[in-house]
Amino acid sequence: MTLEADVIVAGGGSAGLAAALAAARAGARTLLIERQTKLGGMGTNALVHTFCGLFHPDVSQPWAWVNAGIPAEIGQAMMDRTGQTAPDLMGRVYVLRQHPSLYAQIADELCLAEPRLSVLSGTEWIDLQKDEKGWHLGIITRGERRTLHTQTLVDTTGDATGARLLRPSWCQQVEGSRLYRPAYIAAFHGVLGTHDDGWRLQTGAVIVRAIREGLLPAAAIGAGFRDSPFAGETFVTVDLEAGQGEWDPFDPTKRARMEQEGREVVLALWKYLRQQHPDFRPCPPPMLPVKAGIRETARYIGDYIITGDDLASSRRFEDEVALAGWPMEKRENARGPKFRYFDEPLPPGIPARCLFRQDAPGLFFAGRCLSADHEALASLRVMGTCMATGEAAGKMAVDFVSRC
Ligand SMILES: Cc1cc2nc3c(=O)[nH]c(=O)nc-3n(C[C@H](O)[C@H](O)[C@H](O)COP(=O)(O)OP(=O)(O)OC[C@H]3O[C@@H](n4cnc5c(N)ncnc54)[C@H](O)[C@@H]3O)c2cc1C
Repeated sequence: MTLEADVIVAGGGSAGLAAALAAARAGARTLLIERQTKLGGMGTNALVHTFCGLFHPDVSQPWAWVNAGIPAEIGQAMMDRTGQTAPDLMGRVYVLRQHPSLYAQIADELCLAEPRLSVLSGTEWIDLQKDEKGWHLGIITRGERRTLHTQTLVDTTGDATGARLLRPSWCQQVEGSRLYRPAYIAAFHGVLGTHDDGWRLQTGAVIVRAIREGLLPAAAIGAGFRDSPFAGETFVTVDLEAGQGEWDPFDPTKRARMEQEGREVVLALWKYLRQQHPDFRPCPPPMLPVKAGIRETARYIGDYIITGDDLASSRRFEDEVALAGWPMEKRENARGPKFRYFDEPLPPGIPARCLFRQDAPGLFFAGRCLSADHEALASLRVMGTCMATGEAAGKMAVDFVSRC
């Protein structure tokens, strides 16, 4: 087993996948470590089923990739495998439906095609030390404790794990009442009906009535349905308050309770709708995710903290390494999103300084834990943008190695 690499990427979600591919393609011996058994992060294990942030925000124009490179490569691969020839236009944004199983397959194939890239799945990063020789990561891989050594580390865990393990003052987190809410997503099969806006409203009304009558848990109010790219499959997303101000995504007991609640609500919905809604009568029990969807935890404080105002004004930067394409989709409660759109339909830049700190040479971060304020995160956390910041961090990591 390779225990040394020029670049170690920790966390194999959208950002980590792109970072590892970029680093390996630029010639670095790269090791990607991932806690779960599948790559793709929330896009596979939590069943998040649309790619946002891949497209230019001007929907008065035909769709176009907002970032070339790995985001467009993965987006195109998903289109080819799902038979989609264009993204969906939803109000003021383009989105691409993606299938979690196919995302895992695309991720595997892209990684296997890179001879300099090794993947260690089933591997949890639990410790970090730094000395003059570089970074030393304590891991548990398939039950065994090991240490990995590298000059260059890219943290794409979504949780600013490196900062939390080594230097908590390098990261930031808003209070529990403002953290974007977690959600539980499951796949229903065989749901009949049109699934158009009218159908969704009518199904929503059935759910609200059942909650009022005490036949469904109150948390079912946040249930939203969206079709998969494949006929007969519909995803249901249930946003959860998760204890409101008491929510702490790093508290293992609260996390377990939230996941239990997600399962409880989804299965209660399935049981009730199967009995009371003719379109749900043929449905077998829903397919549950590996884990609940987590929208926000901790982020790094880099040399620049990009803000919601930077994004709203479509600000550009001399050192920008990627573009944002998605509006700020704020979900501080389980009653649906509040959007803040860019003032003009022009993509803002994301500076390199959001992906490192000068006082931590050889450490880069990207994806959901980049350096952004709470409002900017509501845009930059989407998977298309995470791929773009991940790719940029992977390239910067290789530049660092070549300067060492
Ligand atoms: C309910 C919900 C709905 C969403 N809807 C959309 C949507 O429609 N479209 C969209 O584009 N985005 C959506 N998002 C946002 C998006 O899914 C995430 O923000 C995005 O996946 C973040 O990518 P990432 O690579 O930064 O992190 P993640 O996808 O979270 O990946 C991080 C990876 O790091 C691994 N990891 C973490 N800690 C460790 C450790 N200590 N050791 C080893 N591995 C570790 C995790 O297992 C994970 O695989 C949604 C999110 C949620 C929760």
